[in-house]
Amino acid sequence: MAKTLKAEVESRRTFAIISHPDAGKTTMTEKLLYFGGAIRDAGTVKGKKTGKYATSDWMEIEKQRGISVTSSVMQFDYEGFRINILDTPGHQDFSEDTYRTLMAVDSAVMIIDSAKGIEEQTLKLFKVCRMRGIPIFTFINKLDRQGRTPLELLAELEEVLGIESYPMNWPIGMGKEFYGIYDRYNSRIEQFRVDEDQRFLELDEDGEILGDHPLKESDLYTQALEEIMLLEEAGNEFSVEKINNGTLSPVFFGSALTNFGVQTFLETYLKFAPSPQPRMTNEGEIDPSSEGFSGFIFKIQANMNPAHRDRIAFVRICSGQFERGMNVALTRTGKQIKLSQSTQFLADDRSTVNAAVSGDIIGLYDTGTYQIGDTIYEGKQNIQYEKLPQFTPELFVRVTAKNVMKQKSFHKGVEQLVQEGAIQLYKTYRMEDYILGAVGQLQFEVFEHRMKNEYNSDVIMESIGSKIARWIENDKIDESLSSQRSLLVKDRFDKPLFLFENDFALRWFQDKNPDIKLYNPMDEH
Ligand code: GDP
Repeated sequence: MAKTLKAEVESRRTFAIISHPDAGKTTMTEKLLYFGGAIRDAGTVKGKKTGKYATSDWMEIEKQRGISVTSSVMQFDYEGFRINILDTPGHQDFSEDTYRTLMAVDSAVMIIDSAKGIEEQTLKLFKVCRMRGIPIFTFINKLDRQGRTPLELLAELEEVLGIESYPMNWPIGMGKEFYGIYDRYNSRIEQFRVDEDQRFLELDEDGEILGDHPLKESDLYTQALEEIMLLEEAGNEFSVEKINNGTLSPVFFGSALTNFGVQTFLETYLKFAPSPQPRMTNEGEIDPSSEGFSGFIFKIQANMNPAHRDRIAFVRICSGQFERGMNVALTRTGKQIKLSQSTQFLADDRSTVNAAVSGDIIGLYDTGTYQIGDTIYEGKQNIQYEKLPQFTPELFVRVTAKNVMKQKSFHKGVEQLVQEGAIQLYKTYRMEDYILGAVGQLQFEVFEHRMKNEYNSDVIMESIGSKIARWIENDKIDESLSSQRSLLVKDRFDKPLFLFENDFALRWFQDKNPDIKLYNPMDEH
């Protein structure tokens, strides 16, 4: 490697885009790739999503552009940085893997539709980012359309997410009257409908446009200036420390579709987003620039094609450098593994050669060797990265074996898939019925498919719908409190929890049983 390992690692920026479907994640990604030179034309690529398992938006880009991108990780270079964007699938593909992907990034970019504000999926993904205390950068999108006022949007950000915000720039008008953004950070105005060579207006020391300009006479401009003044007086202070610990989000306004404000966003993001940071193991923190290779598996993607039983295990590199053919050890089993031909390198082939370092993601073909949360390492380190957290499932099914004579393969399959982290398992108290929990429907489909293909076990799954799962603080519980609307079950560590039919049932239960302390593990942090 021409650069030192440390310099390579410091050039990495690894993030995920968190957003609700339709906020503009695909459009934004495409523009970012365009700046990275990975695609030539930043036109609109959004096509219809076809096929049940057309699992990724990236695949859409791939199909339409004919470029080499992989389904889950996109890598590109920009001004000396190497950027990894990890996909967080939404829609029908939302699953625990979506959450786990957030364990592998160093920061997140939250895209918000200016007309819709914070939506459900954004909130869920945000909570997981907050658990980790990683920096969150906000891009408020679709300013070319009429949306909510910027002050309203900021207030919502702070109230709903409980995070401070600092607008790096501020819109002047919106929708049909969108003039551009007042860029506080770069001290300039970026004009929306103006060609690139004249796009920027410089500001003087007082934050006013230098010289004469018709914009100075406009009401929209005056209003924007007044709002900015308000922010200066009553808004949050800019703080790099708060950005770094995830308690203050820098906010950018723009329009991904018209490629407006995206480059400004990218350049400022790169200045403040962290490079790979040390990560915790049972042996203490591991420096990302230290020599020996190590990493952990955060996601295992099952191949839904029955002709291919293999899966791909995604490894986040946390130290050292990956080389094809290298020998590593798997901490859980102590086994040595050669990362040879079976290794697929998930990145754009042109730019990457073999230099994958901390912050990068590699994909390993897996025939059952790996589990989610596994650590692999080179040499004698013998380390284990921190356990991945449990995510609270929201969808539940009752599951049984179709063929009562095949209980053995059924139990074996369930046990292994649960251990692997593909799905959560609960049991009812007296009957010990099996109940599966997931955060997205896809997990059930993958489960059913793998039970049939890998364990030769047909299953019957009966939906019991969406539930609110709440664990019980002191683990002791009176079984008679279980009912249809508040079903008592135990998890695979025998900890009791209730599955409440809805919010109302939860509140009703709490009113009736004020002594029972319920909690959601995802709210703990
Ligand atoms: P995703 O589901 O988050 O990946 O969202 P997409 O990138 O597919 O965008 C959803 C829709 O919003 C598409 O029709 C886009 O063309 C549109 N869109 C994205 N960004 C903008 C924007 O800045 N302005 C407008 N008007 N539409 C946008």
